[in-house]
Amino acid sequence: MQELTHYINGQHVKGTSGRFSDVFNPATGEVQAKCPLASVEEMNTAVAAAQAAQPAWAATNPQRRARVMMEFVRLLNRDMDKLAEALSREHGKTFPDAKGDIQRGLEVVEYCIGAPQLLKGEFTDGAGPGIDIYSMRQALGVTAGITPFNFPAMIPMWMFAPALACGNAFILKPSERDPSVPLMLAELMEEAGLPKGILQVVNGDKVAVDAILDHEVIQSIGFVGSTPIAQYIYGRGCSNGKRVQCFGGAKNHMIIMPDADMDQAADALIGAGYGAAGERCMAISVAVPVGDETADRLIEKLVPRIEKLKVGPYTAGNDVDYGPVVTAEAKKRILGLIETGIAQGAKLVVDGRDFKLQGYEDGFFVGPHLFDHVTPDMDIYTQEIFGPVLSTVRAASYEEALKLAMDHEYGNGTAIFTRDGDAARDFAARVNVGMVGINVPIPVPLAYHTFGGWKKSGFGDLNQHGPDSFKFYTRTKTVTARWPSGIKEGGEFNFKPMD
Ligand code: NAD
Repeated sequence: MQELTHYINGQHVKGTSGRFSDVFNPATGEVQAKCPLASVEEMNTAVAAAQAAQPAWAATNPQRRARVMMEFVRLLNRDMDKLAEALSREHGKTFPDAKGDIQRGLEVVEYCIGAPQLLKGEFTDGAGPGIDIYSMRQALGVTAGITPFNFPAMIPMWMFAPALACGNAFILKPSERDPSVPLMLAELMEEAGLPKGILQVVNGDKVAVDAILDHEVIQSIGFVGSTPIAQYIYGRGCSNGKRVQCFGGAKNHMIIMPDADMDQAADALIGAGYGAAGERCMAISVAVPVGDETADRLIEKLVPRIEKLKVGPYTAGNDVDYGPVVTAEAKKRILGLIETGIAQGAKLVVDGRDFKLQGYEDGFFVGPHLFDHVTPDMDIYTQEIFGPVLSTVRAASYEEALKLAMDHEYGNGTAIFTRDGDAARDFAARVNVGMVGINVPIPVPLAYHTFGGWKKSGFGDLNQHGPDSFKFYTRTKTVTARWPSGIKEGGEFNFKPMD
């Protein structure tokens, strides 16, 4: 059994707390590694190393820091297959999807190569007689991030790339369910030229997280995960005086107008609803066709497509559409919610409950499910399922569809499929959701824009990546300088009275 480590001050170190969690291969159900769960002392050791190393890194000019990022991009491309394999083995997602996970992180690293430009300050020349005012963006010091299981490469990179480019040290507490790729990323950053202690990985659970929340030296915390934990971290982190941004769960609605291209909408829903087994915060989990006729046409298009989905292990390469869910516990929860959906009166149009895969009977596979006639009071509608389950809520009108998306407590992403520019514009303007797709089912903004949900999907003032990340990982210092007239007036030869 492989025993994973922490990565502290440039070295892999074994856990000393005596506590471990199991890391599964979700395709086979086997425990493939043990992940050490850090104690407060182990976290403190990492923070001390970060604190000692950070001033020299902050004093390294931004262009040199950007060069480390450039080299890191090269190394990520060099090791892409190796990283993707490790990622799929622990997470379960398909090999192409694992590469996508790394790629969308890599793009944020590329954005951070622009650090010299992005960190430039502001200057007012002649704000008064002999007075100039200038503002600088300075690193915070030691920063930290806590990340979820579902994007073990992308989300850590969304956090540590801008944090490091700005001159901070960063402590990553990744998900204990798939910690191998984060450890590999920290090693690669050092191979790229990052000094020891600037990026460290401390594995763990609530004990490690609480140690981050209460550590006086840590200046900022980024969190991505479920909403109850996001709220907890936001509250405790803020009350400890830290800068905190937390991104939580989701229930993303896709509205299908009667004029939409129904084949295009159905194809989009298949990818967005079932890709990565629905374990994406930007997955579409609710389809909202407008009008019964639209709903009937949509269901007719969806059913054969869902029945053709290929579910299997990542080792099947390009030959599978999605893999297992992350743990047996996740599978149990999803199947439990499906039973609740049936009991509460939703119509199960595609039933994947009997799904079995020969040779992988112990894997955490869940067949695809489609519900119709779901209503807003049902648990399958109010809760995030995070599995391959699509719910259809029929709306009588566009206004009713819009209201559904607006009344839901989550506000991460949403989409509208239509040929009508007026409806699309109105939807984008009025919906209270952070990321909107128009004929685009998963509207994840690219690296140079920002990513963030509204309502119970996001807590804090600034989004992830893009220009907001350079604001989040720096603080502004403003200098007002006055230089009264001096030597340039020439030498003074006369004895002058004091005045
Ligand atoms: P999770 O909340 O269970 O875990 C996230 C992190 O918090 C992990 O590092 C975990 O170790 C830690 N954690 C768990 N319980 C804790 C506790 N009691 N106290 C302190 N720390 C704790 O989430 P997950 O299951 O890993 O990820 C799935 C969730 O993340 C979904 O809800 C999904 O929507 C959400 N997510 C959101 C976004 C976004 O950008 N909004 C992106 C990806 C995932």
